[in-house]
Amino acid sequence: MVDNNKMGIDPVLVANPPLPQGTLCPICGLLLRAPVLCENCDVLFCTACVEAYAKDHNGACKMCDVFNKKDLKPASSIVKILGGIKLKCVHKNCTEVTGYLEWEVHITKCECRVVTCKYIGCAKQFMKKEEAEHWKICEYRTEGCPHCKKLFPHNEIAGHSEKCDMKPMECRGCKEEIQLGKLATHIKTCGKIIVSCQRCDAQFVREKQKEHDCVACLKEEIKVLKNEARRQNQILERLEGRTVIMAQCYHFNNTIQEGLDAETFINSGWTVAYDEYYSHPTTNEELDSIVSKYNKKRIVCIAGKKKECNLIKLAAFGTIGKVFVHTNSTTNTRNIGEVFWYFYPGNSFGFSNESNVFLNCADTTEGNKRLSWHLKGTGGYRVGDTIKLNDNKEWKKIILISPEFM
Ligand SMILES: [Zn+2]
Ligand SMILES: [Zn+2]
Ligand SMILES: [Zn+2]
Ligand SMILES: [Zn+2]
Ligand SMILES: [Zn+2]
Ligand SMILES: [Zn+2]
Ligand SMILES: [Zn+2]
Repeated sequence: MVDNNKMGIDPVLVANPPLPQGTLCPICGLLLRAPVLCENCDVLFCTACVEAYAKDHNGACKMCDVFNKKDLKPASSIVKILGGIKLKCVHKNCTEVTGYLEWEVHITKCECRVVTCKYIGCAKQFMKKEEAEHWKICEYRTEGCPHCKKLFPHNEIAGHSEKCDMKPMECRGCKEEIQLGKLATHIKTCGKIIVSCQRCDAQFVREKQKEHDCVACLKEEIKVLKNEARRQNQILERLEGRTVIMAQCYHFNNTIQEGLDAETFINSGWTVAYDEYYSHPTTNEELDSIVSKYNKKRIVCIAGKKKECNLIKLAAFGTIGKVFVHTNSTTNTRNIGEVFWYFYPGNSFGFSNESNVFLNCADTTEGNKRLSWHLKGTGGYRVGDTIKLNDNKEWKKIILISPEFM
């Protein structure tokens, strides 16, 4: 086979022997290949042969010795004769026969020629026609990323294309196609991304941020502030109300009063702890239970009034801890401020504006600033100068307790 060195063509390849006369090269003895004519000696040679011979022989022609490169001319006279020769392909497995003039082209393009795999690292050889199939399975093959088009070893392409900067992604805000490598930056500025307000709980698309900050969020803040102001005002009003009650308490404490409006006291937070007709038999236990039920520092108002009338005829004020102290004698009183208190269990409970009392089962001493209730199992007895109320259902015994304030 004489494929790669361009010497003559082996006559065994001739498909239609015998060879015509004058078609052998006098140097290689084979069928002329790329023939040239030496005009000096009028002999045909293979181009490769004549050049190789001249190189080895000081530029001489094998036949005429006085060879000059200018003497070599294209062998046009022989072309027609050579064109009639049929040649077999030099490549194994190829059965094709071509004309002499087409032969050179065929053997360089022949599908049966042996080629080496194009991928770096793979040295496999195969026929040209098997090349495409091999490339598909070659373990050294490379593939182009569908996004960036760069080449990667086939076993890395899946991993790369998944993370390729140029992989198209959809922005979750504007839904536009953004390359993966630019997505993070885009999302930081995309107007359609939902963001949360730093001041309130609101959420909105980013392009509405300024509007929200200037309008909705301020309105929300104003609403919160208004609520806060309303709350503060309520506290203020409560405190102011409380100072009024406290002033009232300090003003009345340890005094005897006539003609007060009971409703006013109840409306400002006083508790009705006792409300019975004069006919009701008041007991020690009823009075003692008030001491145990309420803070002893709260002020108590002991009063008498007509039913269905808000006006208190007579009342005295003192702190619970000091009013309900047992005196245990028909003449003893405890003086606090302008009030003289007595609480003789089983006898009577009440107050007077003077120290002289005579508890004949109730204070029967003359005077209109004396209040006295029996404690012996019967109703009675007096509010001011209205006396003998033992079976009375027109007058009521009232005990009011001040709000807890100290
Ligand atoms: Zn030759
Ligand atoms: Zn010659
Ligand atoms: Zn071939
Ligand atoms: Zn390969
Ligand atoms: Zn890529
Ligand atoms: Zn976007
Ligand atoms: Zn906001």
